Amino acid sequence: MAGKAFRKFLPLFDRVLVERCAAETVTKGGIMIPEKSQGKVLQATVVAVGSGARGKNGEIQPVSVKVGEKVLLPEYGGTKIVLEDKDFYNWPDESFEEMDSTLAVQQYIQQNIRADCSNIDKILEPPEGQDEGVWKYEHLRQFCLELNGLAVKLQCPAIDYTRHTLDGAACLLNSNKYFPSRVSIKESSVAKLGSVCRRIYRIFSHAYFHHRQIFDDYENETFLCHRFTKFVMKYNLMSKDNLIVPILEEEVQNSVSGESEA
Ligand SMILES: [Zn+2]
Repeated sequence: MAGKAFRKFLPLFDRVLVERCAAETVTKGGIMIPEKSQGKVLQATVVAVGSGARGKNGEIQPVSVKVGEKVLLPEYGGTKIVLEDKDFYNWPDESFEEMDSTLAVQQYIQQNIRADCSNIDKILEPPEGQDEGVWKYEHLRQFCLELNGLAVKLQCPAIDYTRHTLDGAACLLNSNKYFPSRVSIKESSVAKLGSVCRRIYRIFSHAYFHHRQIFDDYENETFLCHRFTKFVMKYNLMSKDNLIVPILEEEVQNSVSGESEA
């Protein structure tokens, strides 16, 4: 059916037409994705490609993706086009390369967590040449994702507040104003990461002080609060006074003083 419409709409030059896949609300690991982050990083299928942009000498540079390929869409941009009552989006080819590098950081982090979530030093160790702003940003996104796993276990009147906190954090991280690109994070926006950390830390402290058993069970399984504590100390995102959950205090102190001198 759609074939006809595409013949009428062939993307120009290096532009690509894609159809979005439905948003997933639960990750493979069963982690709920907060509402605000749904639909932000979206998969799409390439349905038509342009013939390629012309280089300086007039040679045609072919588009890097093919029809039928799955691509990840950046959070913002793209032009919506309605064909036969279905929404399609028109993107410049280069957007997909940008997403590839974002995805690579995300996958690298998740891979290390899956391999051994207790090996926090390894998880927080950036690969060589990794941009530090992007590294911190992607870790924070990952924390928000995993904190949902803890939040759903807390059946208490504070749950709405918890959801609100996570949604707010996700919203800020997805903000086009502060984080227009996930490939290079502006220095002024890196400063925002501290406030996201302080906000979502309240979920750890609430769980620890009011739902100790749930906190301990989750922590034994994920080492999430350990990782978060080391993360914010390594990158000076929170002051020590605010870290009120007593997590292996000496161990954290030692590793941080060692790292900051290096
Ligand atoms: Zn509670």
